[in-house]
Amino acid sequence: MTKHSNTASNSSNQSAAYSPLNCSETYVRQALEQLDLDTDLETLLLLPHREIQVELPLKRRNGKLQVFKGFRVQHDNARGPFKGGLRFHSKMDMEHARALAEIMTWKTALVDLPLGGAKGGINCDVKDLSQTELQQLTKQFTRRMVTDFGPNIDIPAPDVGTGPDTMSWIMDAYSEIHGHSPGVVTGKPIALGGSPGRVEATGRGVALTAAWAAEKQDIDIRHAKVAIQGWGNVATYAAQLLAEQGARIVAISDSSGAIFDEDGLDIDKVLQKTHRNKRTKKINKLNMGETLSPDNLLLLDADIVIPAALDGAINESNADKIKARIVVEGANLPVTCAASVVLAKNKIRVVPDILANSGGVIVSYYEWVQNRQGYQWTEERVNEELEQRLKRAFDAVVELAAEKNISYRLAAYCIAVERVARARKLRSLK
Ligand code: NAD
Repeated sequence: MTKHSNTASNSSNQSAAYSPLNCSETYVRQALEQLDLDTDLETLLLLPHREIQVELPLKRRNGKLQVFKGFRVQHDNARGPFKGGLRFHSKMDMEHARALAEIMTWKTALVDLPLGGAKGGINCDVKDLSQTELQQLTKQFTRRMVTDFGPNIDIPAPDVGTGPDTMSWIMDAYSEIHGHSPGVVTGKPIALGGSPGRVEATGRGVALTAAWAAEKQDIDIRHAKVAIQGWGNVATYAAQLLAEQGARIVAISDSSGAIFDEDGLDIDKVLQKTHRNKRTKKINKLNMGETLSPDNLLLLDADIVIPAALDGAINESNADKIKARIVVEGANLPVTCAASVVLAKNKIRVVPDILANSGGVIVSYYEWVQNRQGYQWTEERVNEELEQRLKRAFDAVVELAAEKNISYRLAAYCIAVERVARARKLRSLK
């Protein structure tokens, strides 16, 4: 196991080559400037607590040995145990883990959870691995991390390429050593201590914040035109909940392609055909609506665009062509910091990721609380508490943004950074 020291970048140049880490650090620097806090805090807040890289040998089904790399960055635990997802993806690396771990610190603080921030994953192509291989790889990763994970230390959750199955395997491998420990991961199947409402939670939060942001812009969500990129966990539930409110989902996409229907796609039908989350059928094989170039989805003349796939989707090359009035960041870091400047110049309202997609970590927190209580809440209670907490955070962001005449993103970072700084100070953390 290799542990690295801090490598926080110094660049705050908006036009520098895109780097997810530079983007998240830029927002923290802007918040510190706005808050007029001690400059030493910049170094302290950007410094990851710990970075872990592990080598994961796996005997493949063809008999050959392949070594995968696993990552975990534990960014900050001043307010509570490290918390954040695990991404299994061919582009997963330490830089993504650093940027996404940092974002988790600000997200948990913004929605006032007693948790910190972490992120990790394995560099692999999940489509190339059988279920058995995925299970072996996940359990191997957990064994390597068995003293780094823990219900009071670091609590992983699903992200791109992982889901309830992955969480079950982690819980099992961890429990073999520590005894029955459902609180070591969230996003588990309900039968293993998962929370009702967790699977839908991120999409639910995206749909709620989209509707609230629309209201602020005098857009009636019941007639709003919405385009959504990325037909995965976040996008599918966001689409379904927005469609239930009457919004017209005019375009959707996945990595295979995009489809468009000016009158609104029949989302229930799309979900039936795509077998939600199992992705047995790709968007480009649906035979519904018109085929659209995936790059053009974000540029449609819609009221709301929701990038809910991967980071960097809205960048310097397309930001100036965005026509929507609102961008809701379903994914983490889907708008680069350079693109954020362009969207602000063009008066496009951005609901930042740390607010828009925080529904997942909010319900993950409720799952962890239920595991500690040994008691399951009802779905109604989970959804009610999710909505109340998210609305408090949304209102605080809107109020601060109006008071200081700043973007929602900067307001969100100011609230989050101030909370983490305060916790560090109270604990005399250096
Ligand atoms: P997922 O794996 O369920 O779905 C991702 C989807 O994006 C897939 O359908 C894939 O085909 C699609 N995709 C990939 N590249 C694409 C492209 N270029 N164009 C269009 N579609 C593309 O992942 P998810 O859990 O829905 O996560 C999506 C994003 O939301 C990620 O940024 C993740 O970090 C973020 N997020 C997820 C959660 C959660 O609870 N799942 C919580 C917070 C944030």
